[in-house]
Amino acid sequence: MKIPRNRKNDYSREAIESRAEFLSGHCGYKIEHLSKSNIDPETTRGNIERIIGFAQVPVGVAGPLRINGEHAKGEFFVPMATTEGALISSYTRGAAAVSMSGGVNVAVTSDHIQRAPYFVLEDLFKAREFARWTEENFKDIKAVADSTTSHGKLTDYSIYIQGRIAYLRLVFTTGDAMGMNMITRASREACRFIAANFPVVEHAIESNMAVDKKPSHINTILGRGKSVTAEVLFKGSVIKRLMRTTAKKIDNAYHRQVTGAQMAGVMGSNGHVANGVAAIFLACGQDMANISESCVGYIYTETIGEDLYVSLQLPSIVAGTVGGGVSLPTQRECLEMIGCYGKGKAKKFAEVVAATVIAGEISLAASIVAGDFVSAHEKYGRNRPE
Ligand code: NAP
Repeated sequence: MKIPRNRKNDYSREAIESRAEFLSGHCGYKIEHLSKSNIDPETTRGNIERIIGFAQVPVGVAGPLRINGEHAKGEFFVPMATTEGALISSYTRGAAAVSMSGGVNVAVTSDHIQRAPYFVLEDLFKAREFARWTEENFKDIKAVADSTTSHGKLTDYSIYIQGRIAYLRLVFTTGDAMGMNMITRASREACRFIAANFPVVEHAIESNMAVDKKPSHINTILGRGKSVTAEVLFKGSVIKRLMRTTAKKIDNAYHRQVTGAQMAGVMGSNGHVANGVAAIFLACGQDMANISESCVGYIYTETIGEDLYVSLQLPSIVAGTVGGGVSLPTQRECLEMIGCYGKGKAKKFAEVVAATVIAGEISLAASIVAGDFVSAHEKYGRNRPE
């Protein structure tokens, strides 16, 4: 049994329909909605193979959200793709609280992404020599890597030695692209250069120390993609009016939740950063698997008089506004909605993500404290199957 392929054009509507028909017969359920989209499947070339259609996830809009970023400035309506009822309402309520309190300050504090090949050497002494050789020859390794791309730059590296294995963690900047394709090619050339000039027994392009698409301590500390931090001073009067609670109560809840998260072994401490990151990433054409590291976030709170100071640190927002899936039609529309499509917009996009996420954090925390967490989900967030 083989899935139908169209040798002439596997991205034609006919190719898609024939696969849908085949799958309908195979599973005994009519596959009809996936293939019904007015988007030209040709646009997906380079993003997918064996296409059978489009997952049409509903997209809502949260906001207006006032952002005082270094790159994102002004009022934003943020597109969010989700099937979780109550989510957009909650982020919109949070956005109102942020905006009525003067907005969210936000900045990208570091921007780099890694690939981490490993090298097997003769023994651990050779591995030590390898580390010294790499330091002495970094300029040449960088020249080789940088020659493969006009936007990627190898800026730094670190080496971790385990017996006769050397883990080489290469650090790149990638312009406005998320950059994994770009730096993988650059790393491959760097590896070839190293292996041609140093007696390496064996090497491979990735050791799992990058760390791509997994939450990790190394990226939580050193950062991966954009490290972004945001802060808001929520006015006590706004918390009372919009959320029917107080700064003190939310602050207490956060402190108790941090301890709960520590006891449970959570990486990061936050209410639901993943909700905001996932919904924006999905709407805006990001690689969804990078949510695994992008959803790590640390919340800090303190009361200042009647007001509540909240800051959020997201150490590894892995995203881009060029390349990957961002040019697909609906994904581009969503990026355009927040002025984040294309060249020079990647940091702005990361700031919008962090700003939106902090709005979602305050709304969730307040609803837990004020006791309307369940009722909000009961009202908006249930789709009871018959
Ligand atoms: P890409 O679409 O493969 O490459 C980005 C392209 O945009 C490059 O050709 C770059 O040219 C060009 N470019 C034009 N203007 C740019 C600008 N202002 N800033 C940066 N680049 C610019 O995208 P990518 O970000 O490298 O890779 C993202 C994709 O990689 C995602 O689809 C993701 O799913 C996938 N991915 C790959 C791996 C892997 O190991 N290969 C792992 C995880 C994810 P130059 O190169 O000449 O600068």
